[in-house]
Formats: sequence, structure tokens, C-alpha cells
Amino acid sequence: MYDQVAQNKRRSAAIVIGFVLFTTLVIAVILWLFNLGFIGIGIAAVVAIASAWGAYWKSDQIALKMSRAQPADEHTYARLHNLVEGLCIASGLPKPRIYIIDDPAPNAFATGRNPYVTGLGLENAGVKLDDHGHIAVDKFSRTNVENIWAVGDVTGRINLTPVAIREGAAFAETEFRNNPTSFDHEAVASAVFSQPPIGVVGLSEADARHQYKSIDIYRAVFRPMKYTFVGAEERCLMKLVVDGESGRILGVHICGPDAAEIIQMAAVAVKMGVTKAQWDSTCAVHPTLAEELVTMREKYVPPELGGLG
Ligand SMILES: Cc1cc2nc3c(=O)[nH]c(=O)nc-3n(C[C@H](O)[C@H](O)[C@H](O)COP(=O)(O)OP(=O)(O)OC[C@H]3O[C@@H](n4cnc5c(N)ncnc54)[C@H](O)[C@@H]3O)c2cc1C
Repeated sequence: MYDQVAQNKRRSAAIVIGFVLFTTLVIAVILWLFNLGFIGIGIAAVVAIASAWGAYWKSDQIALKMSRAQPADEHTYARLHNLVEGLCIASGLPKPRIYIIDDPAPNAFATGRNPYVTGLGLENAGVKLDDHGHIAVDKFSRTNVENIWAVGDVTGRINLTPVAIREGAAFAETEFRNNPTSFDHEAVASAVFSQPPIGVVGLSEADARHQYKSIDIYRAVFRPMKYTFVGAEERCLMKLVVDGESGRILGVHICGPDAAEIIQMAAVAVKMGVTKAQWDSTCAVHPTLAEELVTMREKYVPPELGGLG
């Protein structure tokens, strides 16, 4: 990234010098035609210096624009770019797509991954890909070619290690034990091992609102007890997304300490189709962070929907 900025700066500096020389030449020719002598050369020099200064100042902006970096996040972007690109090169993958979240001081990034199927000869075998270049498969991981299957990230379903393992196991069960088995991709829990960590299972509030007529949200934002003891300000957010008609819990979202550990157990209940009433009938373990999950009674209405927030 820094190399790119330097390269672009050099390129824009060359444009600036060319522009100044050309302007100077044009002015000199005009002055010579009108025979203005030394006064003319003086004016030409002042104009040239002024335009050089202005253009050089502008060149910084040109360079940054060319490299598509925000001035504030250049360093962070460079580190992330090198890290992700390094990982891809090390594992023989094509270059990643990196998106910058449009914020004056961004602190979150999302990277994309492309399926690496080049050189496998899929086109010769007639294996179909989906619109994003993943190998297209049915729920049994069968491709359109009878004797070819695909599992894992290359099929672009859910890119997680345990999912790839389960898809592989289901394939083996189907094909080698003659027991048709498919992996159910619903309610697969996942975690982001950030600080604080995030744990998620099921639908987001936005997805649930699109898919269901009526949605209830339960939300708790609090300071975990172990942090209050040491006077730390770190907070925790928990949210339950509930089908307003059946009472079934559609999603659980946690951002706070041990979120990954907690979400694993919440996923068992969500996968079994637990209702909010059943969930609430579970007695709390005190004092824990997870006890807040089973003690949320007030519905939360976001301000966008007329609630107090
Ligand atoms: C930075 C990062 C962090 C992640 N963290 C997590 C996490 O915390 N938890 C989690 O569950 N998942 C995580 N994942 C996702 C997880 O790594 C993948 O979902 C998982 O590895 C998918 O398994 P797979 O077998 O489909 O593919 P891979 O593990 O990628 O295996 C594919 C294999 O095929 C080989 N290969 C490719 N082309 C050829 C060829 N032409 N000939 C022979 N061999 C070939 C590759 O070298 C590779 O060994 C992470 C991924 C990344 C990139």
C-alpha cells in the first residue's frame, strides 16, 4: 500500500513538473512575442512557482485518490492489506477483495474470499459453477455431474470448518453407507474472536423482519459483574430475536466476554426450536454473564419503529 502511494505520488509529481514546464513555455512564448524582456521573464517565473506550489499541494490528494486510501486509515489499511495478501499468497489463493467501511476513522474491515477452482479442469468435466464462481451443489453436495461431489468453502454455503466437516461426513454417509444424509445449514452458530468477542446463532433482526410478519426483540446492555469489580467500563450486548406469532427464538446475538462459549450452548436450544417461554423457564446461574439471557422480559422497540430505544 505504501509502495502504491509512493508510486502514485511519483506519477502525480511527474504530471506536476510536466504541467509547470508547459505553462512556463507558453508564457515565455507569449512574452517573447510581445517583447516584454526581463519583466516578462520575472512574471513567467512567479506564475511558474505559484502553479508548481499549487499543483504539488494537490498531488498529495491525487496520490491518495489513486490509491483509494483514506488519509486517516492509510496505516491500518496497509497492515491489513499486507496481512490478508500474505495469507493468500502463502496458501496459493488469488488476491483478496478488501473493502473499506466508509468512515473518517474506520476500525472495522470485511474481506471477501473467492473460490479457487482455476486449474481443476471443471470446465472439461462439465461441472457447473454458481454466479459467484462456487461449485454448484444440491443438498447432498452433488454437482450436476453424476460422479462428482463438492463440500466445504468451494461450494460457498457457510464458510466454517465444522460445516465443511459435517458436509464431508454427510457425503460419506450418503455415498459409502448408502444412507442419504444432508447437513442442515439452519441455525449454525458462529463467533468473531474480536475484543470483545461476538457470538451469533440464527437470524439477525433485519433478516427476521424481512421473513416474518411479527418480530419481538429482547435486549440487554449492561456492564458484566466481573468488570464492575475492577471499575472497567466495558459493556456487553445481548439480543434475542423472537417470532411474535409462535414465540420461537429465531436468533441470539451476544457481544461481550465469553460470547463464543455461550453461543455454542444457546445454539443447542435454538436448533431444537425453543420458544421464549421455554427459554425463560430455565433458571439462571448466578452470578454469570449468561444469566441475562434468560432474564430478559421487556420487549425492545428500536427508535426507528417508534420505540424509546
Ligand atoms: C483467516 C481465516 C480465519 C478463519 N477462522 C475460522 C474460525 O475461527 N472458525 C472456523 O470455523 N472457520 C474459520 N475459517 C474458515 C475455515 O478455515 C474454512 O471454512 C475451512 O478451512 C474450509 O475447509 P475446506 O476443506 O472447505 O477448505 P480448505 O481448508 O481451504 O481446504 C482446501 C484444501 O484444498 C487444497 N487445494 C486447493 N486447490 C487444490 C488443487 N488444485 N489440488 C490439490 N489441492 C488443492 C488447499 O491447499 C487446501 O489445503 C477461517 C478462514 C480464514 C481464511
